[in-house]
Amino acid sequence: MTAAIRLKGVSRHFGSVRAVDDVDLEIREGEFFSLLGPSGSGKTTCLRLIAGFDQPTSGAVEIFGTDATATPPYRRPVNTVFQDYALFPHLNVRENVAYGPKVRGDPGPVRRRLADEALDLVALGGFGDRRPSELSGGQRQRVALARALVMEPRVLLLDEPLGALDPKLREQMQGELKALQRRLGIAFVFVTHDQAEALSMSDRMAVFNEGRVQQLGTPQEVYDRPQKPFVADFVGSSNVLPPEMVERLTGKAARASLRPESIRMGSGGVSGTVARRYFLGSATRIEVASEGVTLNVLLPKGSEVPATGADVSLVWEADALHVMPGDDHG
Ligand code: ATP
Repeated sequence: MTAAIRLKGVSRHFGSVRAVDDVDLEIREGEFFSLLGPSGSGKTTCLRLIAGFDQPTSGAVEIFGTDATATPPYRRPVNTVFQDYALFPHLNVRENVAYGPKVRGDPGPVRRRLADEALDLVALGGFGDRRPSELSGGQRQRVALARALVMEPRVLLLDEPLGALDPKLREQMQGELKALQRRLGIAFVFVTHDQAEALSMSDRMAVFNEGRVQQLGTPQEVYDRPQKPFVADFVGSSNVLPPEMVERLTGKAARASLRPESIRMGSGGVSGTVARRYFLGSATRIEVASEGVTLNVLLPKGSEVPATGADVSLVWEADALHVMPGDDHG
């Protein structure tokens, strides 16, 4: 199958800053694909290169099998939803959504129909006459979506589109976005620094750090089998055990990831001392100091929580320890 987007050895350097550094990436038709990484890791730059707002220093951007590296943004079959929505305050909602068709030269009745259809798609039918200032944050976000969708892009690019919403609304919009993507059947490329959001929404995801893709895979693959300490820590705050400890436990001298929720209290395991406790509501997280390492342990609600300073023994299933092939670099 032809990839929707293919980045081939793409770099974008700003002076000495390697914002995007030799990235190879393939985004499939119809998939929900996330670019996940901390602030400054190159996600937005990557998205801008796909949109055509910026050009790579080297490498090529292919869209549906055609080299688009030099194609201007408006000639690419992609559209972008920006984090700040970028709505025109002096235009009403319908005019905002109809802006693209207007620039394209569609006649009035056509753009009105297209705008109303796009507004229906995001459950904002009937809001066409309002000004953006008369909408809630979530509604403004939907107008921004409608404005991108009205052009019928084959790929929708979303740059932290839910960043400005409160947690409850954010969760609701996550569900709606995902449902919309399924309904439209087009690829969504979703930039986020929120690992839970990327895990819950993506078909596949690329984890970025320092301009490079650290790991690419399904949420399950990335979560269960992190290839690098950075990925283990950034996605799900895993414990990264040092080689000496892993060698003693498994005979193999390499770093390993161990998820906090995989650890239980038991006897005959790794011993340590409880250094801190954090009540999280649905669970309690404790930090256990053991052999110079701090292990995070997530105890589900209802489990017995040891006191700070208590000596404990930690156990886990053998397959919970995931030895990592990669290092921090590359
Ligand atoms: P955030 O989540 O904070 O938006 P990001 O992962 O999207 O971060 P980018 O915006 O892609 O990161 O930035 C990657 C790096 O490139 C950063 O170090 C940033 O300062 C740098 N950078 C981005 N755009 C420019 C520019 N126009 N000029 C110089 N440096 C830039």
